[in-house]
Amino acid sequence: MSQSNNKLTTSWGAPVGDNQNSMTAGSRGPTLLQDVHLLEKLAHFNRERVPERVVHAKGAGAHGYFEVTQDLSQYTKAAFLSEVGKRTPMFIRFSTVAGELGSADTVRDPRGFAVKFYTEEGNYDLVGNNTPVFFIRDAIKFPDFIHTQKRHPQTHLKNPNAVWDFWSLSPESLHQVTILMSDRGIPATLRHMHGFGSHTFKWVNAEGKAVWVKYHFKTEQGVRNLDVNLAAQLAGENPDYHTEDLFNAIDKGDFPAWKLCVQIMPEEDADTYRFDPFDVTKVWSQKDYPLIEVGRMVLDRNPENYFAEVEQATFSPGSFVPGIEASPDKMLQGRLFAYADAHRYRVGANHNQLPINRPVAEVNNNQRDGAMNSTSNGGGSVYYEPNSFGGATESPQHKPAPFKVSGQADSVAYDHNDHYTQAGDLYRLLSEEERARLVQNIVGAMTPVEYDEIKIRQIGHFYKADPEFGQRVAAGLGLPVPAAE
Ligand code: NDP
Repeated sequence: MSQSNNKLTTSWGAPVGDNQNSMTAGSRGPTLLQDVHLLEKLAHFNRERVPERVVHAKGAGAHGYFEVTQDLSQYTKAAFLSEVGKRTPMFIRFSTVAGELGSADTVRDPRGFAVKFYTEEGNYDLVGNNTPVFFIRDAIKFPDFIHTQKRHPQTHLKNPNAVWDFWSLSPESLHQVTILMSDRGIPATLRHMHGFGSHTFKWVNAEGKAVWVKYHFKTEQGVRNLDVNLAAQLAGENPDYHTEDLFNAIDKGDFPAWKLCVQIMPEEDADTYRFDPFDVTKVWSQKDYPLIEVGRMVLDRNPENYFAEVEQATFSPGSFVPGIEASPDKMLQGRLFAYADAHRYRVGANHNQLPINRPVAEVNNNQRDGAMNSTSNGGGSVYYEPNSFGGATESPQHKPAPFKVSGQADSVAYDHNDHYTQAGDLYRLLSEEERARLVQNIVGAMTPVEYDEIKIRQIGHFYKADPEFGQRVAAGLGLPVPAAE
């Protein structure tokens, strides 16, 4: 505690004479409109919130660095991955998905795992989750899916009927539902979980040769999960448990770290692999494509200000740097638009000018103006391209690598519909205790569903993943396994 020498001022920098008493007509008022300090104070307070994210509203963030431990320049020309020992500053935001900004941390939900690497070639955002797969595989289903996770339009209550109706009618969700309902659906802390890029991405090397890549952040703290009863208790007693744990760990110098590994698939394998490698409801078996270590991420600094750094942080899976590109994954393709667009709406068209989002690389574009432009706005420099006045020019060597497409333009379904093998593989790799808890969690989550038809349809999916899995859920719910179609 110390005595301040700073003068309290208005937002226009003038000294404030009285910050305790508003200016009134006589001692009993009413209050005078000419108390402009009061007006500004109340008006700004009304505007303190930006819209919370529709998904991933509740989050916690930290700064850190990424250090390369293995040279993979044979696969990618990305400069920040080019040299063993090279360090790149980064920022991460962890989040739950469905709850609001003030919701409890210890709920059963995937966790967002969004990393911004401030590279010398621009910001690279890897915007994933703590799960390797997702519930749906085409972005056109995303608004419907999220509606089922949010509140009922009349009751404003969470709605298990909608959740399980949608999942049971969208069997591609089964793999992710199984992960979500397993022990890993409620991590012990944000430090004790893995992270995944989830989608397939493309890496391109200096010769223009491409490979497909999947990212895995492996926690060095070990995977630990929360007992469901303790999680429920903490959700009531300390809804910010995960946020607090992360802040305190970093504050006391116990810096959490993750190894970044990748799976690399030769470009031509995509045509023959037994699962569609661009289907985000599937993993690539690590027996087929083993993990290769790339580097290490260490979180060593807390934000100075939550709103400025965590709430205003804007991540987009479309923020690529040379050497890293999109894949045809239909869920990724939609996210390439949706994330940046959400931030234009939520934070503003100039969100990349904010300190937390500003690249360390020099930005030279011809964007000008827009709400809350906080730079010199290009001054008097050239503001269009091509031009004859020495403006910034293209880098043809960094055009995305060309790729072949085929087929007819249409609303086309995926041609792989095996939603069961990988969910079953997961069930079969669990211990008996883990299976029992998985079934118990599912039965607990499905019991409030009011329609047997929905429950029986979903039991059919669990059964197809593994007959024992389906039978145990059916027994728990006191319902039959449906006859095979
Ligand atoms: P592998 O045996 O090569 O890999 C198994 C994977 O499962 C490891 O990544 C392991 O991660 C993870 N795992 C282990 N226990 C659990 C658990 N209780 N809950 C969730 N994940 C767990 O086999 P495959 O690569 O052929 O995959 C088999 C199944 O494993 C898949 O169908 C999928 O459901 C699941 N899985 C696969 C991943 C992949 O990238 N291939 C990633 C994560 C899960 P860990 O190091 O933490 O033990």
